[in-house]
Amino acid sequence: MRAIRRQLASCGPLPVALAAWCISGLPGAALAGETSVERSDGGVDLMQDSTDEGDARSSETSAVAEELVDAVAEHEHDVPLADAVTTADGRAEPLRILGTGVEPGSAARLSWSATQLFEGVPVSTPVLAVNGALPGPTLCLTAAVHGDELNGIEIVRRVLHDINPERLSGAVIGVPIVNVQGFRRGSRYLPDRRDLNRYFPGNPNGSAAARIAHSLFTQVIAHCDALVDLHTGSFERANLPQIRADLRNPDVVTLTLGFGAMVVLHSKPTAGTLRHAATLAGIPAVTVEAGGPSELELAEVKRGVEGIDTLLAALDMVKKRRRWSDPEPVYYRSSWVRADNGGILLADVGLGTTVRKGDLLGTITDPMNNARTEVRSPWSGRVIGMARNQVVMPGNAAFHIAIQADDFEVEDEAAADVAPQRERGGYVDGMSE
Ligand SMILES: [Zn+2]
Repeated sequence: MRAIRRQLASCGPLPVALAAWCISGLPGAALAGETSVERSDGGVDLMQDSTDEGDARSSETSAVAEELVDAVAEHEHDVPLADAVTTADGRAEPLRILGTGVEPGSAARLSWSATQLFEGVPVSTPVLAVNGALPGPTLCLTAAVHGDELNGIEIVRRVLHDINPERLSGAVIGVPIVNVQGFRRGSRYLPDRRDLNRYFPGNPNGSAAARIAHSLFTQVIAHCDALVDLHTGSFERANLPQIRADLRNPDVVTLTLGFGAMVVLHSKPTAGTLRHAATLAGIPAVTVEAGGPSELELAEVKRGVEGIDTLLAALDMVKKRRRWSDPEPVYYRSSWVRADNGGILLADVGLGTTVRKGDLLGTITDPMNNARTEVRSPWSGRVIGMARNQVVMPGNAAFHIAIQADDFEVEDEAAADVAPQRERGGYVDGMSE
């Protein structure tokens, strides 16, 4: 296991936008100790008896969080992630995970069982592990934490089966379907309608969601030196392939830069997400969003695979020629434009469209009286997420705009920092992570 220590004082060579962010000495430099991230109650509104569920869940996860952080403390890192391969010495060792040892230079298909069905039959899901012949860090890929998000499943499969263990420095562990129960039902949620991605790092004595989260976290995630959690948009919304990352953490910046050309949205992780829990435990993590739910979208899958392959090369885990292309911009703010009228929403823009303030995003037509209203962008920026054409109600999230810095009062952090996610009381449409 590599020994890495966060270098909080230095962010290393970065593109201008990221370097500015780094040098500005944001308070987030103390990320490891930070616990003040806003709580989100995503998914809980679907519970029937959930009045106090949010608080109960919060305590059930936080009660064991410290213990878990200690358990993962062996990840207290002495070198930055970027140097993990070059500073690794000695020989590769067997990767001990899920009760097995995967020998250096080999790959294995393992199985993780988090829970049981009512009949007492374990619910198991495959874990793919490739242990390289050469020493280095362990990169983990997780997908379908939300059971209806399919693109990540195929991304993990393609990446893992394309790795040659003889030429790999370090290890790659892939969990293609974390939420196997949701996957089988084509649902984002667990059978009790909880959102698994609000329960990490979990609790062995908590709710079903907390137990599954705890099992994954201790049995798999604790073995990782870095984590990429793959998601898509939620509920008839699709996302431009993008990285969501907390750019105050230098190792997270290393991960983010490693993807090469992909839009980056700086976002503090919501408490309870796998990204948040892992990073807090010393395992730098990013979320990759690509496409929408319930479909396998080949272009998005290819984009995701390309990004992770580029990351493996950037971390020196594989000796491929890096395919750097022009870097995509980094956005520090984003917000959803919501429908103010009900009716049929038809988009006039696509994912990735650059818009100016006032540009037409789409129209909403009342099917009864044929009255048409226009949806215009309040900001200059980029469309990074959008509803598929559908019938909407007033308030539905329609277009997710990454906001250009010059169109924003930077001091006014609270104003547009994904403000809808701060709402209390339930799943907020448009929040996909
Ligand atoms: Zn998701």
